[in-house]
Amino acid sequence: MDNEIVKGMSSMLQVLTKQKRLKQWINEIQPISKKGRLATYIPQLGTANPDALGIVICPLDGDVLAEGNTSTPFTLQSISKVITLALALMDHGPDKVFSHVGMEPTGDPFNSIVKLEMMKPSKPLNPMINAGAIAVSSLIKGKNADEKFERILDLTRKLLNNPGITYSEDVYWSEWETGDRNRALAYFMRETKVIEGDVEEIVSLYFKHCSIEVTCFDLAQLGYVLANYGRNQRGEQLMPADVTRVVHSFMVTCGMYNGSGEFAIKVGIPAKSGVAGGILASVPQKMGIGVYGPALNEKGNSICGVLLLQKLSEAWNLSIF
Ligand code: GLU
Repeated sequence: MDNEIVKGMSSMLQVLTKQKRLKQWINEIQPISKKGRLATYIPQLGTANPDALGIVICPLDGDVLAEGNTSTPFTLQSISKVITLALALMDHGPDKVFSHVGMEPTGDPFNSIVKLEMMKPSKPLNPMINAGAIAVSSLIKGKNADEKFERILDLTRKLLNNPGITYSEDVYWSEWETGDRNRALAYFMRETKVIEGDVEEIVSLYFKHCSIEVTCFDLAQLGYVLANYGRNQRGEQLMPADVTRVVHSFMVTCGMYNGSGEFAIKVGIPAKSGVAGGILASVPQKMGIGVYGPALNEKGNSICGVLLLQKLSEAWNLSIF
């Protein structure tokens, strides 16, 4: 048989084997969603199907793999912090951005207020916690709130390779109505001069980018761009490689809230989760991964999503450590 045909058949077989394994893992892990909880503190997120679980893998070379609830839309929530950080770094460079927000992980929950008062000079510890992300949102360039959001949306569409991306008004208003803790963080930071300007406008921008709606396919595309040091599948450089290095570092040290250490040991892949149940993962120079499972563990990470990534990392030897 022709060499090329043999090669083609063997790679097809590999894809089928991987696909089968993914299906098995999903079937095995999915019942564990019963032990998790939806993030009902944003009431609209409480309407998700808690048993949903899906994964899309977009390798730098090879075929896309998709299994489970891959086309269910969900909001980025904290995963949007990766995009706003990248945009702020492109807008201002690291010196300016890191004069407003730190580079250190925190053992506290994502919405904690306690360290803001303890740190001298007062500065949120990192851009992946709410306070830090609100400070980053306040730096996004634009002549008014609409233009700032359009710039975030525009970059998101490019990174996700999906011009149809928009935000969920239902989730946005649900956050707006219940987001007083985030307002408190922002007012505190204005008083300590970490942010300046109209606090309500800054917090609304933050709620809006958290409410951008995606699927696992979109997340896998974003993971691909990060894994490929800023280039998309067409070879376009969407962000400088230096920015992806900073983003990957934060994903490792702070991307999975105060479960980041355990995740680094058990999974070892740069990742960022959101309270709607999404996990963005990027294996440098190998693949982008998008996972969705809205039932969360006690740290606020998708309970099944973490287990699925652990299986994948162990079986395919993906840990970067
Ligand atoms: N919009 C959410 C909040 O501010 C984001 C939380 C998250 O996904 O970690 O509470």
